[in-house]
Amino acid sequence: MKPLGPVPNTFSDKNGILAIDDEDAEALVARAGRTPLFVYSRALIRTRVARLRAALPAEIALHYAVKANPYKPVLETLLEDVDGFDIASGGELDLVVAAGIDPRQVSFAGPGKRDDELFKAIGLGVTLNVESENEARRALRLAEAAGRPPRIAIRVNPEFDLKGSGMKMGGGAKPFGLDAERVPALVREVVAGGAEWRGFHIFAGSQALSAEHIIETQAQTLQLAARLAEQGGAGCPHLNLGGGFGIPYFPGDEPLDLERVGAALAERLAVRPAVLAETRMCLELGRYLVGEAGVYLTRIVDRKVSHGEVFLITDGGMHHQLAASGNFGTVVRRNYPVAIASRFGAPVEEEASVVGCLCTPLDRLADKAGLPRAEVGDLVAVFCAGAYGATASPMQFLGQGPAAELMV
Ligand SMILES: *Cc1c(COP(=O)(O)O)cnc(C)c1O
Repeated sequence: MKPLGPVPNTFSDKNGILAIDDEDAEALVARAGRTPLFVYSRALIRTRVARLRAALPAEIALHYAVKANPYKPVLETLLEDVDGFDIASGGELDLVVAAGIDPRQVSFAGPGKRDDELFKAIGLGVTLNVESENEARRALRLAEAAGRPPRIAIRVNPEFDLKGSGMKMGGGAKPFGLDAERVPALVREVVAGGAEWRGFHIFAGSQALSAEHIIETQAQTLQLAARLAEQGGAGCPHLNLGGGFGIPYFPGDEPLDLERVGAALAERLAVRPAVLAETRMCLELGRYLVGEAGVYLTRIVDRKVSHGEVFLITDGGMHHQLAASGNFGTVVRRNYPVAIASRFGAPVEEEASVVGCLCTPLDRLADKAGLPRAEVGDLVAVFCAGAYGATASPMQFLGQGPAAELMV
């Protein structure tokens, strides 16, 4: 038997069925009209934001990394709760505008921004986190045509990475940002070119659970930003410190000690270099805000035994849950938190593998897990489904189409 990831302790059962915000999973499926279904809890997102506000220094603004989950009701919820939104494409720009978000609260990163995307973003007053000299020059040129100065920050490729992170986005050769030593010259160039100078964006990695590693990276980030602010000669009005706060997906994962990160950051800010005295700072978080607030529900359509192993075959799968299937940036496949939602809290009775309906051996949601005995018609829940689910999975693969989504 292989262990399952930890089910977030924010969920309980109602008459033996998994409940999300006090509504049982069968009722939620009935409300949505079908499975597979992503359910997101507004209350859980709000609680998470409140915990962050309480733990972090008050001066730290919170930004949401839209790519984690661009579902409109999620954006609308966060619109009331966070201070800014970070996008990485023109498509995400359209989504934030449609959700009623003020483009002046939005910053736009991403290594391959096209002219049409830059032009539109400049026209709306979005801050561009430029990723190269070329991109900065294109932005300055396009801004002339748009008749308004571009708001430019420079994304820096730091010399360090976020240790222990699931996805490293800094340190060494990277397609993201500008190597630190080239930054000061570009600061002078964009300022001379008439840009509204916004500062630096330094994102070193994702999905870190160690407070110590995050604390170390934040200290390095502040140091690097101070040095570049001095060398560039234009200061640093805004500093995006990155994020990388992870959530526990796998057996043995422990939640991040948020309070420790907040306390260390407060200490660090108290002794910051003078050049950062007036700098407005933000963190950009994706999965930490929404990941644990989402549950993916899928129904068992077949139950079979092959060579003595039980397979529970569901109507969902990797086309909505690429990460849970182990095919999105993991080296060794480990089980996500998965449960039989219609028998939530029932004792373990057998070893079974939960698979999806796609005709590929990659489509596995839980491998040799200990579960209560489940039958055709039972509901399976995959937890930690609020981020990188619906839009980070190969939805068109095998013609299966999208899952339903519901905000409660
Ligand atoms: C993906 C990404 C994020 C969000 O990462 P999470 O792990 O979901 O918090 C934030 N910033 C940048 C630049 C990213 O590419």
